[in-house]
Amino acid sequence: MLLGCHLSISGGLEQTVARAQELQINALQIFSHNARSWKMGALKPEEAKKFIEQRQRTRIEYAVIHTIYLINLASPNPKNFQLSVQALKDEVQRAGELNIPHVNTHIGAHLGQGVEQGLERIVEAINAVLASPPAQRAPDVKILLENSAGEGTELGATFAELGFVLRHITQKERVGVCVDTCHAWAAGYDLTTPQGLEKMLAELEREIGLERVLLLHLNDSKFPLGARRDRHEHIGQGHIGAEGFRLIVNHRDLREKPFILETPKDDEQSDPTNLARIRALRYDG
Ligand code: ZN
Ligand code: MN
Ligand code: MN
Repeated sequence: MLLGCHLSISGGLEQTVARAQELQINALQIFSHNARSWKMGALKPEEAKKFIEQRQRTRIEYAVIHTIYLINLASPNPKNFQLSVQALKDEVQRAGELNIPHVNTHIGAHLGQGVEQGLERIVEAINAVLASPPAQRAPDVKILLENSAGEGTELGATFAELGFVLRHITQKERVGVCVDTCHAWAAGYDLTTPQGLEKMLAELEREIGLERVLLLHLNDSKFPLGARRDRHEHIGQGHIGAEGFRLIVNHRDLREKPFILETPKDDEQSDPTNLARIRALRYDG
């Protein structure tokens, strides 16, 4: 099973590799810089080299960069739209420099301009990023669009909305999807029962194609089904519950995909505990 968690880069990129080894994970998600700031200094070549070398010496088979939370690819504000497009270009460039195949991003919120207008902005943004020199220099890097919880005017809570974006992207082979379990639950997809999970997967297949789901975020939810609240909980301690995750991590259509935890980090034991819970639910290694 490809399993890992989001790790902080506060101690430097190389620290994440060491921490991943401690946790005995073979998948890893990172921010490539301070997630609450637009400012992104260029990556030092020796920093990238070190990260790649260290990773080669470990069992980290899968890695993904998560973009900063400030990005809104649907922003009706021209300045913010530009900053968001630039930030995504920069992340794609960094992924290329770090030999990381995927850049996962939230797509954004329409902020009152309407769903259709917002989705069209997102298409425009991603097409611009993929047509840019940084993306052309990193042809193997894919952008993953994450489903949202649907808080406020957030777009992408339904797979139909993500599907609309995917269908309008010019370079389709460079874009995939990430399904976050907490967000799906918040948006009203009941993935805790066999029938509910099958229904969600049928919709995913119809709107997106299961082969384009390249990553899953495993998060339990502090709020009930359909609450449209994006509040992650420890595995098994929220409304999705251990049995929900048992269905998800063993499902034939999902079990080969990378699983990344974005569960709360209360203390040193949080990550090991949540990882152990997922491992215990899996029927075989
Ligand atoms: Zn996310
Ligand atoms: Mn997520
Ligand atoms: Mn979330």
